[in-house]
Amino acid sequence: MSRQYDAIIVGGGVIGSSIAYRLASDGLSVGVIARDPVGSHASGYALGLLNPTSQTGNIESLIHQSFKMHQEILELVQEESGVDVQARAMPHLELALEQSEIAALMKEHDRIAAFSNFTCEWIRSDEIKRLDSRITDKVYGGLLVDKVIAIDSYNFTLATAKAAKSKGVEYFLGEAATEIIYDHDRAIGVVVGVDRIHSGAVVLAMGPWSGGASLWVDIDIPVAPQKGEILRLEKVDPRLEFHVHGFTHGSSCSILQKADGTVWLAATVEDDTGFDVALSEEARKSLSLRGSRMMPFLQSHPISLQTACMRPVTPDGDPILGKVPGKERLFIASGTGGQGILLAPVIGSSMADLISTGETGIDILQFGMERFSAT
Ligand SMILES: Cc1cc2nc3c(=O)[nH]c(=O)nc-3n(C[C@H](O)[C@H](O)[C@H](O)COP(=O)(O)OP(=O)(O)OC[C@H]3O[C@@H](n4cnc5c(N)ncnc54)[C@H](O)[C@@H]3O)c2cc1C
Repeated sequence: MSRQYDAIIVGGGVIGSSIAYRLASDGLSVGVIARDPVGSHASGYALGLLNPTSQTGNIESLIHQSFKMHQEILELVQEESGVDVQARAMPHLELALEQSEIAALMKEHDRIAAFSNFTCEWIRSDEIKRLDSRITDKVYGGLLVDKVIAIDSYNFTLATAKAAKSKGVEYFLGEAATEIIYDHDRAIGVVVGVDRIHSGAVVLAMGPWSGGASLWVDIDIPVAPQKGEILRLEKVDPRLEFHVHGFTHGSSCSILQKADGTVWLAATVEDDTGFDVALSEEARKSLSLRGSRMMPFLQSHPISLQTACMRPVTPDGDPILGKVPGKERLFIASGTGGQGILLAPVIGSSMADLISTGETGIDILQFGMERFSAT
């Protein structure tokens, strides 16, 4: 490993791979240090829903930009990699499961209808039953949003990594970075085992493990793991033509039929569990209960798989994107929470701009790590 790269990326999940892909597209030489096989963690197990309309707050504009980029990039990475990302466009159906939710959903209607690329209509409970008679009778109406996209997260991450490799990116699989090499405050490479790999820039894209790099940069990187479990049910026929979502039993629940026919119930949200991804009986019961509240026939439908992985989360819920304060040529992209698959293209683009030209036209300034040290 004596090579010198324009950029070294630590982490081969969807975020690291998207940045590598964009940097290589701009003609830079890139090495990716990937401790685990591509898509081993959240990037491979996420639900794979791309729905920008469900997001408000600081991240809203970035998420919509990324959704548009996905619409261009999905086909491209598929062609360049030969991996089918299993994209399906479908309406999103947000159910009012309690009468008290109607007013809030009406407000949501006005917010979503303002986006030129989405239609949004309020539909009555009898109309919902006509859309799909398997949806519960105990519903007070809902919002029908056209159209969101469902992809296979694992295939998308793999496709991005393979497309990056086809542009010359080198993956060091099974290798962990343990240190950053500095020349004064300028990052000039990373230590991997007994090797030192030199580069013109270093990017930390370590997902929920990003906090572990605090020691390498002498400041706290406030990213923590948040556990999320998903239940996959066996194939359902006829096909469910919507992404169905609602709030029930105190939590949010998605019902999504994937391209292979399996139906996923997602997801639990558990903080303070560290890096524990043990499957729990409690999550299985809770997801089953939530799913069957919206579609009762799912209660007795066979389970094919239960999975657990970790979202990288920050104290304010927004990602960390940009330069590491106090260092030169050292960058970080993490803390994408439950939206990293959707955010990957805009993060790939903005970070690649920043690394290769020092600036980006995409507004990521507010997501700098400085915001956590501001008094
Ligand atoms: C249950 C669940 C459902 C989700 N659903 C969706 C969804 O529907 N839509 C959406 O947009 N997002 C979703 N997400 C969020 C999304 O999965 C994450 O935001 C995203 O995958 C984070 O990507 P990442 O590359 O930052 O992290 P990861 O995928 O965790 O990858 C980080 C990589 O860094 C590597 N690494 C760490 N330390 C080192 C080191 N020292 N050296 C080398 N490599 C290292 C790890 O091995 C790992 O492979 C979901 C998440 C969960 C948990």
